[in-house]
Amino acid sequence: MSKRWCWSYSGAVLAFLGCVSCVTPESRSHVDDTEDDTQQETGSGGAGTTEQGSGGRTSVVTSCGLPVPTSSGVAKPSGETGGLRVLDWAGLKGAVSYTFDDANSSQIDHYAELQGLGVPLTFYLQTNKSDAKDPTWAQALLDGHELGNHSKSHPQTASPDDVDAATTFIEDNFGITPLTMAAPYGDSSYVSVAETRFLINRGVSNSSVTASSGNRFNLPCHIPAENALASAMDAVVDKAYQAGRWQIMLVHGFTGGSDGAYQPVAIEEFVAHVNHEKTQPDLWIDSVIHVGAYWVAQNLIADITPEVDGESTTWNWTLPEHFPSGQCLRVAVDGGTLLQGGEALEWDEHGYYEIALDEGSMTLEP
Ligand SMILES: [Zn+2]
Repeated sequence: MSKRWCWSYSGAVLAFLGCVSCVTPESRSHVDDTEDDTQQETGSGGAGTTEQGSGGRTSVVTSCGLPVPTSSGVAKPSGETGGLRVLDWAGLKGAVSYTFDDANSSQIDHYAELQGLGVPLTFYLQTNKSDAKDPTWAQALLDGHELGNHSKSHPQTASPDDVDAATTFIEDNFGITPLTMAAPYGDSSYVSVAETRFLINRGVSNSSVTASSGNRFNLPCHIPAENALASAMDAVVDKAYQAGRWQIMLVHGFTGGSDGAYQPVAIEEFVAHVNHEKTQPDLWIDSVIHVGAYWVAQNLIADITPEVDGESTTWNWTLPEHFPSGQCLRVAVDGGTLLQGGEALEWDEHGYYEIALDEGSMTLEP
């Protein structure tokens, strides 16, 4: 079975990253008019783009940067108006994010192979390391990957100043404000620091994330054993995929590096593993901020009690702080027409309406 989509770095994904750079209410980063214009374009939802990705695959992403599920030819529901439900994982079956901590040299040495995978990755930088200034990270950002905060000096016990220093470093060197962080050692003292600074903090407890619950300031992950084979990594991600969960993987580096990465794996095994996961038809492979923002929103919207006025039902919401702009959510209904900003949304034949989260409201009418 040929795969229906894979990621490449289309304009849509790059536009999404443009948004990531300018989302904090405090406006600590370098917001300019160009980036604001980009946000406007990415928030509209609707038509997808198709282009050749790496390896000759056909790549399909929507203007929101969401992957397209394998389901297709789904007619607009014609039942009774109502039954609105949020689709987990953008309508796919499960998700995986690959994270790389500590700005280790072997991540830089093997960046070409990582980029060659054609999937967005997340790099959590420890910013007092000399390799944190390596030009690879600016390139990674341009290529559609996420740069996140892993503190400045990696203390066991959280220091707000140390975390803020890492954010300042990333802002000054790469022109973006990180929206997610990874706690050094997964220490729980980082939870309260993250709550006021980030959308998400990744810890290190060995588990995966369910669609409907979890603490976004202490998300679990799996750290492969030293020299883990591709088959061992496949088993972890396949299990989460089959269970409809989000698996975050944490790799510190690859064998042969010069700075002692924790539990390194062979780059060949890692590449073989990701290439295996790319064959799963409905697995969403994306950065922590992209999957995580969707997951936060799917739970936010699912929990709303809508306001009913005659035949019209309206959902209103406020996005949390540090939420990226220009994001979308997919919802289905039993029947009726969904509107945002007074305009009817177009039903997508893959089985959903795609709503713009920045609108803060949607209405279902007969
Ligand atoms: Zn670390």
